[in-house]
Amino acid sequence: MSIYTPIAKEGETRRVLALRSPIDLEPIGELVCANREDVQAAVARARAAQPGWAAKSFAERAEYMNRALKVLLARQDEIVDTVVRETGKARSDAMSMEIFAAADSLCYYAKNAQKFLRTRKERVHGLMGIAKQLRIVYRPLGVIGIITPWNGPFVLGMNPSVQALMAGNTVVLKGSEVTPYSTKLVEDVFREAGLPPGVLQVLMGDGQTGAYLTEAGVDKISFTGSVRTGRLIAETCGRQLIPCTLELGGKDAMIVCEDADLDRAAAGAIVGSCMNTGHYCCGTERIYVVEKVYDAFLAKVIEGARKLRQGNALGFEEDVGAVFWDKQMEIIEQHVEDAVAKGATVHVGGRRNPELKGLYYEPTVMSGVNHDMQIMRDETFGPVLCIQKVRDVEEALLLANDSPYGLNGNVWTRDKEKGFAIAARIDTGSVSVNDMAMSYGVPAAPFGGRKESGIGQVNGETGVRGYCHAMPILIDRFGGKELPSGYPYTQKKAEGMKKLMNFLWNTPVGRWLS
Ligand code: NAD
Repeated sequence: MSIYTPIAKEGETRRVLALRSPIDLEPIGELVCANREDVQAAVARARAAQPGWAAKSFAERAEYMNRALKVLLARQDEIVDTVVRETGKARSDAMSMEIFAAADSLCYYAKNAQKFLRTRKERVHGLMGIAKQLRIVYRPLGVIGIITPWNGPFVLGMNPSVQALMAGNTVVLKGSEVTPYSTKLVEDVFREAGLPPGVLQVLMGDGQTGAYLTEAGVDKISFTGSVRTGRLIAETCGRQLIPCTLELGGKDAMIVCEDADLDRAAAGAIVGSCMNTGHYCCGTERIYVVEKVYDAFLAKVIEGARKLRQGNALGFEEDVGAVFWDKQMEIIEQHVEDAVAKGATVHVGGRRNPELKGLYYEPTVMSGVNHDMQIMRDETFGPVLCIQKVRDVEEALLLANDSPYGLNGNVWTRDKEKGFAIAARIDTGSVSVNDMAMSYGVPAAPFGGRKESGIGQVNGETGVRGYCHAMPILIDRFGGKELPSGYPYTQKKAEGMKKLMNFLWNTPVGRWLS
């Protein structure tokens, strides 16, 4: 039975989906998908609201974020309830990933956006610096379309919205059809915080609604989701010549060196793979362990994974929640089946939880995996630990880099500098040393994938500036009165220019000056 099913509703011309909770597959509501006219109307409202919003000072915009933060903290239980009902994720995952991270984002950008976007003076190099002053102004792009997936339905809408808003843009956000009401809460929070109408709107709908948004004349698309949809969005944006950032899938590698603290590494592997039911774009999907410590590491992981609690009581005492979507369940099952058929060993889990009615897959530990198996090549996005023995760190690095993805990764060793050196050789977006992948949760770290994991970076200074055009304004100190290379062109001026070039780039003093 699917998490959503299209239904016909009398008098409704828009597509309607009936939603079910992955916890027990019981109905939880309906989703009426915004049509092209709805999307265009939302973008028009956003366009009308943008100049007024951009005219506000950073302090005023920050004040709205601070109020939203207060609303978020006051309404956190209700938000967690909605997210848990729609996703089936463990309550602690909802609190840490959705509420904590969203609160951190609101606070961080309210505090720092002005610093990131203040007009900068840059020195103009060489002789030109005598005559010219350069200032760089960050101008908002206008209306930003944000399209998000189902694995972090609240925070993945909130975080880019806060950055775009602080930069002076207005936002039209479309969440996933799997989790529409969780994303809608972003709008509710801002409305209660008093955000002016049209500044942030959340559209409910499916992929078709998302496609309408990419074609509705927005100034940038900030997309988080699958590689497949990312390609379509890049094509549409390319045709319209509008920028986009694409935060896509991953197949993140973990490297365990022989000098790693194995207790910490095993705990990191378990939480890195099972947090948010493994539906974490930076989840640990491949674990390479050097042979000297392989047996000890595997034993610790098996012991730890067996202790994980899975259930549908929806309290804070459960570790691993439901799979959020039946389509993802099929992928997880297929990857595990393929690996087993090709010789992998399942030590823990490896099946749906027979005790629970909803979409629960048991936390799973597998060894004997290799790169001929789908589970080591394609994104699994489930609570599965796949552990491969390697000769040494060099082999681990070769395998880590043998992937079309490159989003995140982690390295475990007691020697921090060695960890840093190994991390810098992984062909990926970002890396943690002695921790599971954390970069998305650290706003100051620019976040974005390499290879098929995406284009562009979000978060921090880079992210906020990405919602702006960096506009250089060159000011002539002398009012442009004496232009040595200006009209009329003459033989004499050309000879002078030749002499100048010879001096600048052919003499030591000239090189120093330029
Ligand atoms: P998806 O690509 O199927 O859907 C993402 C969003 O795009 C949804 O809102 C969907 O309705 C919309 N959409 C679908 N077709 C569209 C189209 N043609 N035009 C415009 N919008 C369209 O992805 P998903 O299954 O919801 O999300 C899971 C994926 O997201 C995983 O691959 C995961 O790794 C990735 N992800 C990446 C990050 C990151 O930061 N890199 C974070 C979270 C999730």
